[in-house]
Parts: sequence; C-alpha cells; structure tokens
Amino acid sequence: MDAPLAISTGMPGPTVSSPITLDIVRCSRCQQSLSVGTQSSGAVQFGMNSYYCNRCASKVGFVR
Ligand SMILES: [Zn+2]
Repeated sequence: MDAPLAISTGMPGPTVSSPITLDIVRCSRCQQSLSVGTQSSGAVQFGMNSYYCNRCASKVGFVR
C-alpha cells in the first residue's frame, strides 16, 4: 500500500479560520440569534438562508 495517507497529525491546520460560525443564524423577524443544528434551539428554516425562531414561526403560522 503506497497510497499516501491523509495528513492527520502535524501542524494544526488553519483550514477553519472563519470567526463566524455557520451554526448561528438570526431570526428574520425578531433578529434573535438561533443556533441551527440543535433541536432545542427552535430555529425554523423557511428559506435558503432564512430562519424563524419558534415564536415567530408560530406567529406567522409557519410551524409545521
Ligand atoms: Zn423570531
């Protein structure tokens, strides 16, 4: 097996440099910060990059 293994151990890669976490979005209605990915956050996606918090989602009747 001569296949080069992926560089697993070495210098800490600077791959992740963005300070902005993609898991944090804002409610399009009340601008509340929501964390996507956890069910407890209550973020409801209604567009490609649009989210409602649970409260706004129910207010606009978006809860499914
Ligand atoms: Zn909201």
